[in-house]
Order: sequence, then C-alpha cells, then structure tokens
Amino acid sequence: MTYGAFRVAGQVPVAIVGAGPTGITAATLLAQLGVQTLILDRWPDVYPQPRAVHLDDEIYRILARLGIADEFATISRPTRGLRLLDNRFKVLAEFNRDPSCSVHGFPQANMFDQPELEVLLRANLKRYPNARLRSDTEVTAVTEHEGHVRVTFTDRSDGRVHHVDADYVLGCDGANSLVRARIGSAMRDLNFEQRWLVVDVATSQTRGADLRQWEGVHQVCDPVRAGTYMRIGQARYRWEFRLLPGESADDFGTLRALRPLIAPWTGDVPDSDLKLLRVTEYTFRAQIADRWRRDNVFILGDAAHLTPPFIGQGMGAGVRDAMNLSWKIAGVLNGTLAADVLDSYEQERKPHTRSMIRLALNVGQSMTGGGRLGNLARRVVLPRLRWVPGLRDKVVDSTTPALNRSALVCKSRRSRRLAGTLCPNPPLPGGQRLDALLGNGFALVTSEPLGTADHALLRRHGVVVLVAEQGSELEKWLRRGRAAGAIVRPDRTVMCAGRDIAALCGRLDLAPLQLRDNPER
Ligand SMILES: Cc1cc2nc3c(=O)[nH]c(=O)nc-3n(C[C@H](O)[C@H](O)[C@H](O)COP(=O)(O)OP(=O)(O)OC[C@H]3O[C@@H](n4cnc5c(N)ncnc54)[C@H](O)[C@@H]3O)c2cc1C
Repeated sequence: MTYGAFRVAGQVPVAIVGAGPTGITAATLLAQLGVQTLILDRWPDVYPQPRAVHLDDEIYRILARLGIADEFATISRPTRGLRLLDNRFKVLAEFNRDPSCSVHGFPQANMFDQPELEVLLRANLKRYPNARLRSDTEVTAVTEHEGHVRVTFTDRSDGRVHHVDADYVLGCDGANSLVRARIGSAMRDLNFEQRWLVVDVATSQTRGADLRQWEGVHQVCDPVRAGTYMRIGQARYRWEFRLLPGESADDFGTLRALRPLIAPWTGDVPDSDLKLLRVTEYTFRAQIADRWRRDNVFILGDAAHLTPPFIGQGMGAGVRDAMNLSWKIAGVLNGTLAADVLDSYEQERKPHTRSMIRLALNVGQSMTGGGRLGNLARRVVLPRLRWVPGLRDKVVDSTTPALNRSALVCKSRRSRRLAGTLCPNPPLPGGQRLDALLGNGFALVTSEPLGTADHALLRRHGVVVLVAEQGSELEKWLRRGRAAGAIVRPDRTVMCAGRDIAALCGRLDLAPLQLRDNPER
C-alpha cells in the first residue's frame, strides 16, 4: 500500500533536499513505509571526497534495516579498539573491543570510506520505485504555497527552473543548509573551532604494502600536535592532525612533506608503495541549530548539527535523525499517529545530539588539552585507566544516551529505566535476530504471557508480540530494567516499560497513537 501517492504532477508527500547519507537514509525508510519521496541533490553523483570513516553498532543496525548490512560488511572493517599514545608515541593505554560482542548484533566500531557507503545507499534506494532521486539539481527556495511547502529548484544541466509542492520537506542539505535558513533557524556555537589536516593514503596491495600497525584507532595525546591514525580498509589509511598556527594543507601536499607526521606509522615503507589520495584542511566545529522544525519543514543531519569527529559520530547523528523522523511522518500521513507527535523529533533528537557533541568535545579535551601539565597527568593517569572496570567499559562501550521524555517516550518515576533506550537485537531461537521479526511497526516485548483481551487489543492495533523466554537475553534485559514488558517503537526505542502488562497495552489506546484507525489493519 502506498500512502500519499503523487496526486498530480508537481506534488509529492515528502520532498528531501540533499542526497547525502542523511537524505538517502530518510528516503529509504520512508519508501519502506510506503511513502513517496522526491530527493533533490545538486551534484550529478555521490560527493567523491572521503570524510566519515567510523560508525558504531547502532548505525550498523540501521543500515541493516535499510537492507545493506551484508554489502556494508564487504566494504568495512571492524576495529579493535583505541590506543592512546603520548607525544613520543609510547602507549599510554589500550582499550580493546570485542568485535563479536554487541547488543545491536553488529561490531561496535567499524571503519569505512564514506563515498563507498553512499554508493551502496544509493544503489539500494533504486529498489524502491516510490523514491525518486533527481540529481544535478540546485534547490533555490522553500516557501509556503496554498497549504503546501513549495520547493523551487534549477536543473543544472539546462538551467530550467521547476518546483514541486510537498506535504513535508526534509532539509538534509548539509552544513550550509538553505532549508535551515529558510525556516529561520540559526546555528548556535558550542565554543569549539580547530583546524585539522585530514590525510587519506592508499597502500599498494600488489606489492604487499601493509603498515603492520595495531588494528585499532591510535590517538596521539599531545596538546601541540594532536593526531589520529586509523586503518579504514584493506589498503586504506586515514590520519588527522591538528594544524599549528600559520600552517595550512598546502604545506603538506606531498608524501615527502607529510613524512615527518606519518613516519611513526609508515616506517620504512617506500613512497612508491604509498599513494596520497587526499590532503585537505577542515575546520572542526561544534554547533547545533536553535530550531529543527517550522511547520512541516524539518532539518536533519549536518543541517541541524555539527560535531568534531573525535568519536566518529557526525554522520551517525544524521542517520539517527532520519530513523527518528521517518516513521513518525509516515504514521501521520497514513493516519496512525496524531500530527503533534512530530514535535517529538526535536524534543528527542536535540538533547541526544547535544550530549554526543559534548562527549566528543570531552574526549578531544581530555586527550589533548591542558598543555604540559595535561601531558603529565595523562602519563600518570591513563596507564591506570584500564584497571578501573567501569571506566574501561565506558571508553569501549558504544551505548548512547536514552532519549528524553516526549509524547512517544513515557517515563514515570517507577519505570524510567528502559524508556527512551534502544531495545537489544539478540538472536532468537530459529536463528533470526529480533529486528527481522519485529518488522517496521510497534511491538510488545514481554516476559509474561498475555491475557486474551490484551492479545485481541494488540492484534487489532497490528502490534507484534514477542514473549521472551525465561533466561533469554531479552528476558534478562527486561529484568535489568525492572520491567515485565516494553512497548518498542518502529525505530526500536522503548516507548514505555513496566511491570503491569495490561497497563502497557492500555497505552496503545491513548493519544497520540491512533493505531486502531490504521486503514491497513
Ligand atoms: C574529516 C571528517 C571526518 C569525519 N569523520 C566522521 C566519522 O568518522 N564518523 C561520522 O559519523 N561522521 C564523520 N564525519 C561527518 C560526516 O561526514 C557528516 O556528518 C555527514 O556527511 C553528514 O551527512 P548529511 O547527509 O547530513 O550531509 P552531507 O553529507 O553534507 O550531504 C548534504 C547533501 O545536500 C546537498 N545539497 C546541499 N545544498 C543543496 C541545495 N541547495 N540543493 C541541492 N542539494 C543540496 C549536497 O550536495 C549534499 O549531497 C566527518 C566529517 C569530516 C569532514
């Protein structure tokens, strides 16, 4: 069933400005829910420059929902953890991750090349005829027009101007977002700005060049020349170095000029076995937009927030935005959710994003701040960190904060543990993981059998019921959360949890959910 199909030429339920990772994720999720979208992007193809290189298990889980987990596995590399080095490259501390251990069912830290991922995302989108990508198209205006949002764009191949009227517009148009400006939103600075050099190098596979380094992220903790080294593929490596005042990327345009920086990792591998793919300068910023919505226009991804990449979460935040908003818009369009649930997008995502940016700033600061005194403290403290189990777990744990209370996250004093957190994705008897069983709708995960009336109510609402077996991972998860059951939203966030299953089921009858009115059920 397709909701809100193209009614007349020039109209579409959802127009998406920007076909980066955020826009394509939103389009794919909406398409899976039967919503027609038109995606507009200024470039003819994927933006070819490498940027993001890391994503966590939560984002991998979303990629699996998009249908590209297997393909992503072929272009990514789970990483072993984090090694902290001093300015003489002595190891201060090492935190190992177990790639096989994750509540989401995927390795906790994965290295990849952003353009390769974007190629996968776009190829996958072609499977959905209700999503149409129009490239080589510059969006120039987003305005109100007779009860719709009018998106005006120019076809860059012939200069002709067109427009489309949409019920909803998603501004996934990156850091310099036009949509953000059009909704009267502005970036608020979180007081961080640093210039960094970003270096991408390939090694010659035919000649067997391998830098033979520890297979994790290397962080050089040095207030003067902070740096990061990562292996991102079979023959691909990334360095990021803080630039000193007066330096620019032009000073490091050749392998010869880069050698003083990268030699601790490249050793005696000759220049002929290394290929410099890109050297560029980025100004890393921490910013968050003051409003993420005006009427039916939303901003997502880099359009709404920017973070320094110290914990590799910028792109992930955009993918999370897309996952959070897409099912809500689909629900409002198909009449199963009240329109005011759309307020929950900013209420839930903004605090989450802010705390992830703060975490990135803290990680950056604790590894590289404090001058010589900071160096001394790090030399004393860091080697001991791994003996403190709670702290060690924090460094290697990829769990992100719970979402704040909203119309779709119900936290009461007695049952606040699970609400707003993600439900795990364990393998179930039969081999499938939980996500495969839950599909795209609401679900009740319970450790107690249901009464007939509750069963009937849930069936009427089309809610999938999963009874967790005694001793299973799911049952233990509920027990740890002091709950007998949890209502899980389509994005796998727990809406509410508690001991009283009948009361939980009753919540499905309350506004803003109108599941009973779903025409499909
Ligand atoms: C050096 C570096 C390292 C990074 N490392 C990581 C990392 O390890 N992990 C991580 O998660 N993130 C990382 N990031 C961040 C990540 O690259 C971005 O967060 C991500 O690309 C944002 O995706 P997006 O889709 O929101 O925006 P973008 O990727 O910027 O896409 C926006 C799209 O909108 C289009 N567009 C813009 N304006 C218009 C218009 N007017 N009309 C039509 N189209 C338009 C653009 O062409 C573009 O395709 C890193 C970034 C940098 C620079």
